[in-house]
Amino acid sequence: DTVVLSDLAKRMGVKGNELIKRLMEMGMMVTLNQSIDYETAELLASEYQFEVEKAAFEEETIFQSEEDAPEQLRPRPPVVTIMGHVDHGKTSLLDVIRHSKITEKEAGGITQHIGAYRVPYENGDIIFLDTPGHEAFTAMRARGAKVTDLVILVVAADDGVMPQTIEAIDHSKAAGVPIIVAINKIDKPGADLDKIKRELAEKDLVPEEWGGDTICVPVSAKQETGLDELLEMVLLQSEVLELKANPSKLARGFIVESKLETGRGPVATVLISEGTLHTGEPVVSGIYYGKIRAMFDDMGKAVKEAGPSYPVEIIGLSGVPMAGDELMAVADEKDAKQVSEHRMEKQRSKDLSKTTRMSLESLYEKMQEGEVKDLNLIIKADVQGSIEALRDSLTKLSTDEVKVNVVHSAAGTIHESDVSLAAVSNAIILGFNVRPSAKVSHLAEDENVDIKYYNVIYNAIKDIKDAMVGMMDSRF
Ligand code: GDP
Repeated sequence: DTVVLSDLAKRMGVKGNELIKRLMEMGMMVTLNQSIDYETAELLASEYQFEVEKAAFEEETIFQSEEDAPEQLRPRPPVVTIMGHVDHGKTSLLDVIRHSKITEKEAGGITQHIGAYRVPYENGDIIFLDTPGHEAFTAMRARGAKVTDLVILVVAADDGVMPQTIEAIDHSKAAGVPIIVAINKIDKPGADLDKIKRELAEKDLVPEEWGGDTICVPVSAKQETGLDELLEMVLLQSEVLELKANPSKLARGFIVESKLETGRGPVATVLISEGTLHTGEPVVSGIYYGKIRAMFDDMGKAVKEAGPSYPVEIIGLSGVPMAGDELMAVADEKDAKQVSEHRMEKQRSKDLSKTTRMSLESLYEKMQEGEVKDLNLIIKADVQGSIEALRDSLTKLSTDEVKVNVVHSAAGTIHESDVSLAAVSNAIILGFNVRPSAKVSHLAEDENVDIKYYNVIYNAIKDIKDAMVGMMDSRF
C-alpha cells in the first residue's frame, strides 16, 4: 500500500515541492516520482486536513472462483514427471517415450521442446513434463504450482536405490503425488530385479507382487521394451485418481517454462489446470499481463484453444513470467492490466508479505493456537549414523498434541532442494555437523525457512523438546 508522492500532491491540491520539504523535515528524502507508504501518507495528509483512504484492491473481485458443479467436470489427461537418480535413465526414457509414441501417430510433425509434451496413447493422452528430477518439481511447488499428478520413479536395475532416488521418493510423498516405479536398464548384465524391489520395499514402496501397492514396471529405454506396460499403468493409475476439471470457464494454469525470444518477445509454456484458454484472451501471469496473440502446441502447430492438462506455448505477454507462476485468463483486458500493475507495485515496495513458516521459536505458540499438529523435520548430517540416532530420538518425542515427522533425511550438506522441500512441507531443517553454502543460506532466508545447526545430538534433542513445551531459551 503505497502512493506516488506527485499523485498525493495533486489530489490534495498542494505543491509537490512543499510535500518534499515536509518529508525532509521528517527526515525522509523522497522525490516526486517515488512512493511513500500508507502511514507516511496519512501523516502528511493530516497536516492538510485530509484523510487517506486505502484503496481496497482485491484480486478476488477479478478472479471470482466459483465451485464447479459435478456435471461441469470432465476427465482430463494425467500430467507426469519423471524422477530418479542421475544416470538411471530419466532423459533416455522421456526421449524414447516421446519418439516411439508420437512420430508414428503424427507423421511429419517436428517435436518442439516447449517444456511439456503430449503422448497420445490407446485410451487417452498422457502429458509429460520435460524437466525431469525433483529439484524443479519442488521449486515449482514452492511457488504454489501443482502440476504433477503422477511421478514415474526411474531406478536402474544394475544400480539400485541411490541418494537421489530417496530424495525423489521423499519429495513426491511430501507432495502427496503417487509413484509408479520404472525399473530401467533391465537389458544390462548386472540387472537384479529382486534386489531393486527389496530396496524399494525398505523405502515403503512395497511392490504389488509382494502384496504392497506400488506398481513396478521393468523397462529398457535402450531396447525400448516395457514402454507400453508403463504407459498402460500410468493410465490405469490415473483412472483411479479420477482426474477431472471444468473445461468451460476462464482458464487457469501454471507456467512451466519461459524465455525471451528475438522476434517473438516473451514466450511462455502454460500447462492448463482448469478452464480453456483461447487466442485473443487477456491474461495475467505473475507481474505481467497481455492478450494471447498466438498459441502453439508441442508440435509447433498453431492452435486456437487449450483445455485442462494440455501444455501450450503462448506469446503476447508484457514480460517473462517465472516457472511456477500462475496464469489466469480474465474477461477484460483492463482488469489484467490493473492486476499486473498492482502486483508490480507490491513487488516494488517489497511488501509481498512473506509467509510465516514454521520455526522452533514459534512452535509452541502455534501449538497453543491449535495451528499445528505436526512438527516436520529435515535432517542433514555428515554421517548416516547420526541421522539414525537423531531420527529415533526425535520421533520418540511425539506427544498427543504434536507429532514429530522426519520428512526427509540424508547424509550430506544442505542443498537448495532441501530448502524448497522445507518450504512446501513447512519443515525445519536440522544440520548436524554440516553447513550450507552462502547461496543456500540466502535462499533459506528468502523463503523464511528455519535452519538449526548442531554438533551434539543431545543439544538437538533438548532444543526440540524445549520448543515443544514453550521453553526454548534464546540462544538463537
Ligand atoms: P539421467 O541422468 O537419469 O537422465 O540418465 P540418462 O538418460 O542420461 O542415461 C544415462 C546413461 O544410461 C546413458 O548413457 C544412457 O544411454 C544409458 N541408458 C539409459 N537407459 C538405458 C537402458 O535401458 N539400458 C542401457 N543399457 N543403458 C541405458
